[in-house]
Amino acid sequence: MADCLFCSIGAGEVPAEKVYEDDQLFAIRDINPVAPLHLLLIPRKHIATILDFEDTDSALVAGIYRLAARLAAENDLSDDGYRVVANCKSDGGQTVYHVHFHLLGGRAMAWPPG
Ligand code: AMP
Ligand code: ZN
Repeated sequence: MADCLFCSIGAGEVPAEKVYEDDQLFAIRDINPVAPLHLLLIPRKHIATILDFEDTDSALVAGIYRLAARLAAENDLSDDGYRVVANCKSDGGQTVYHVHFHLLGGRAMAWPPG
């Protein structure tokens, strides 16, 4: 989609530190990390928010959680754990309207979130 930051990063038109990519998904380091490990797991398909997933996206969503577990394991987070967060619209704190999941780890997370 034109004028979408994450579509542009996925297409290689905007630079980012990619740590994973396949034909469905890619993962980058967040430019403003809030934890020792802060990755963004992003479907290549332009989907604006997590409200917009369709039945046909079920495998894609499952794949995001499987990729999160794989990247967490590769970063030695399997024992202590990690958090996966998807912010939705204004109250959820979403700033980029192309679905992405934050993988946060390397420190204890607070609850409730701010
Ligand atoms: P959200 O606020 O949930 O929509 O998350 C958007 C995230 O994208 C924020 O954590 C930003 O720091 C991150 N971000 C914005 N621009 C870039 C970029 N060019 N490369 C990597 N991460 C970015
Ligand atoms: Zn997009």
